[in-house]
Amino acid sequence: LTTYADEALIALDTLASRAAGFVAPNIRLGVTGLSRAGKTVFISSLVHNLIHGGRLPLFEAQKTGRIARAFLEEQPDDAVPRFQYEEHVDALVTERRWPESTRAISELRLTIAYESASAWGRMFSRGQLSVDIVDYPGEWLLDLPLLGKSYATFCRESRELAELPARADLAADWLAAASAVDPEADADEMTAKALADRFAAYLRACKEDSRALSTLPPGRLLMPGDLDGSPALTFAPLPQEKTGRTRPGSLYAMMERRFEAYKTHVVKPFFRDHITRLDRQIVLVDALQALNAGPAALADLERALTDILSCFRPGRGNLLTDLVTRRIDRILVAATKADHLHHENHDRLQAIVRRLADRAVAKARLTGAQVDAVAMAALRATREGTVRQGREDLPVIIGTPLAGETIGDETFDGETETAVFPGDLPDNIGPLFDAAADTAPVETVRFVRFRPPRLERSADGLSLVLPHIRLDRALQFLLGDRLA
Ligand code: GDP
Repeated sequence: LTTYADEALIALDTLASRAAGFVAPNIRLGVTGLSRAGKTVFISSLVHNLIHGGRLPLFEAQKTGRIARAFLEEQPDDAVPRFQYEEHVDALVTERRWPESTRAISELRLTIAYESASAWGRMFSRGQLSVDIVDYPGEWLLDLPLLGKSYATFCRESRELAELPARADLAADWLAAASAVDPEADADEMTAKALADRFAAYLRACKEDSRALSTLPPGRLLMPGDLDGSPALTFAPLPQEKTGRTRPGSLYAMMERRFEAYKTHVVKPFFRDHITRLDRQIVLVDALQALNAGPAALADLERALTDILSCFRPGRGNLLTDLVTRRIDRILVAATKADHLHHENHDRLQAIVRRLADRAVAKARLTGAQVDAVAMAALRATREGTVRQGREDLPVIIGTPLAGETIGDETFDGETETAVFPGDLPDNIGPLFDAAADTAPVETVRFVRFRPPRLERSADGLSLVLPHIRLDRALQFLLGDRLA
């Protein structure tokens, strides 16, 4: 029962908020990227650094001492799994092993109590910002274009892609099996399942192959979340040329119905309930891996990034226009794992990501959002040093390679530290984006997987924090203005 005084207070509060042009003190931050891009590590490190007062000199509110504290609160959406922050941090900190990667959507609310920088702001704002962090697989975003496609189109496009030289060998098994069935035969669950399994295996092979091909929809065949095995996921394209009417009860009719069910019951609700409610977005990309694999892989990453950014395009031409209630106003494209490079190369990596982002923004015709790019390491697993070779001091990175990693003929046990010459990214990044120049212009960066690092002391020496590279720059772009 609210008393009269309570109601008066609420009314006053509302008035004050209106007077200050007050926006609800919460922000929904989407974190995405293709699998293994570094989403789980990013969220864990971001939250840990804010809660424990990490070294964040480029995060203005923290640097000027205006953050009183940051703490976890109950998340607003009861039906979304919680991001398992404590488990992930425990893995990183106590066991020094990498946490389980993102497999489905999850959410975490981090609340920051702060003092506004301006007197005006201090008068009206409650000095509290809740950040609802929404972690979800980038694969799911790539389903958006399906909403505008019929099953017949999906079949034709899948066949055309499967026949491309880059994919033909990976698709051969599925294509052979699918071509052998008669779409007009009676619908049969076992046939549907066998084809769905083979199609999913082909999509997975594209992802795992060293050609580093980007993902094809349907995203849930790769990242099923909690829908594994459900009929809405038990479908595949039928590559045959379609002629005439579809016979009810046929295999084709069954596949078509399931494709439509996937769009209606999986893809649409995901966009409506989650994506359209985001205010800010970070897209993590594994640019180093693509650089290592050569220009074709970089071009492929660019294509995937373009498709991802297209989902955030507001207004006409976006399939979600009628669903959109708010719009994303800031997007950060971040290459993580920069700790695999010496710091002299961080700016080069950043320039490459910026170019990648610029090209993807142009191709996706994305407008209305501010887009920035950064090269960072959410969790810095290496330190820097020099090794004397002859008369020269060479820059190296030092870390503990994961058990089983090899350099030359040495195999590591997961306990021993070693120095690695990481290699250099090129100064002139133009040729990298020239997919036609098939000569790999990158003197390949040596890519050893390291164990997570030990904690280091915070700036005030009072707590132990996770080391990072430029995480503070990312935070400033994503949240800084809302803490002004
Ligand atoms: P997700 O699939 O996007 O959730 O990816 P994860 O966050 O699980 O990261 C995948 C893997 O990338 C981890 O297991 C680490 O090996 C590596 N990784 C992620 N972030 C970093 C980082 O900042 N530095 C280093 N050295 N490795 C990282």
